[in-house]
Amino acid sequence: KPMENRITDIGPKDHNEFYPPVIAKNKGKWSHHEILEPGVLVHVADSGDEVYTVRVGGARLMSTGLINEICEIADKHCDGYVRFTTRNNVEFMVDSKDKLEPLKNDLSGRKFAGGSFKFPIGGTGAGITNIVHTQGWIHCHTPATDASGTVKAAMDVLFNDFQDMRLPAQLRVSMACCLNMCGAVHCSDIAILGYHRKPPMLDHEYLDKVCEIPLAVSACPTAAIKPAKVQLANGKEVKSVDVKNERCMYCGNCYTMCPSMPLADTEGDGIVLMAGGKVSNRISDPKFSKVVVAFLPNEMPRWPSMTDTIQRMVEAYAKGANKYERLGDWADRIGWEKFFEVCELDFTHHLIDDFRQQAYMSWRQSTQFKF
Ligand code: SF4
Ligand code: SF4
Repeated sequence: KPMENRITDIGPKDHNEFYPPVIAKNKGKWSHHEILEPGVLVHVADSGDEVYTVRVGGARLMSTGLINEICEIADKHCDGYVRFTTRNNVEFMVDSKDKLEPLKNDLSGRKFAGGSFKFPIGGTGAGITNIVHTQGWIHCHTPATDASGTVKAAMDVLFNDFQDMRLPAQLRVSMACCLNMCGAVHCSDIAILGYHRKPPMLDHEYLDKVCEIPLAVSACPTAAIKPAKVQLANGKEVKSVDVKNERCMYCGNCYTMCPSMPLADTEGDGIVLMAGGKVSNRISDPKFSKVVVAFLPNEMPRWPSMTDTIQRMVEAYAKGANKYERLGDWADRIGWEKFFEVCELDFTHHLIDDFRQQAYMSWRQSTQFKF
């Protein structure tokens, strides 16, 4: 709560104010939980109280009409309480079993005009939950691909595994639309990453008028940018920058600081696929994701090369991994060479990493691979 009891508009209200009564009553006193079926959980408190949760898929961008409908469902079944997860799922909670079936039936019966589920139930346990993702072309300034478009295309082909729990363990898919990685791509079982392949273009005429040159210089992680005096076509000399292209790793940080250094490019931009990361400590240490496909072009609107490749990885994992084994644990066990083979992925020289930081980004730290 704010000090001195003054009101503030900074930050959200204290989350304790928003708990459903059964959660507030049993806070910190839970006995256990289980997944009753895909998308449906029960949490049991030491007191014997139960909370049944129905998880449904949402989207990162929602219309106000859909949000109104979510609130209406929460009012009807859940005394007005609802929660959103960090993966853009929506969770409806009820405090007794007899309220569960009416809630599930209501959610399953709501469909879009085309017949698809408005509120598909799933996203729990050994399956694929919603893809955590970033802003893409709709909002951010440095994306090399779209976020909502790639995620929609990927989730459409993975939808059965959202409603199912047939996989050996949970499989987290994430998406970030540039190397800044606002999504959790560095630690996900499968990750989609937007990637630029060309250095920034320099708009010398306007650069000094719209940018703080020292900020642009200091924004570059590889020290590729230095101040420069440049002669324009009309003979006028202006203050600008020079970019040493061979040092550039196309991260877009300079464009964040300086709009006269754009690097978006139709042919140059596309997607990298990564695999094998996780944040969990279960069975093995957390792992960074490793690059397994160095580049795929942006194939709007459905990104078929990307979705085909992801599907192949998921099917190979479903077939080959042991129960409870995460994708990275499975690849470590069978060997990454075998992983490339069973997923039908090409191994290219782009995947050999000469960066010596331990366990960072690429699939193998030395050239001792077995091809
Ligand atoms: Fe913007 Fe990059 Fe974050 Fe995407 S990952 S939202 S492009 S900063
Ligand atoms: Fe430096 Fe990144 Fe800009 Fe390249 S894109 S010049 S590496 S800040």
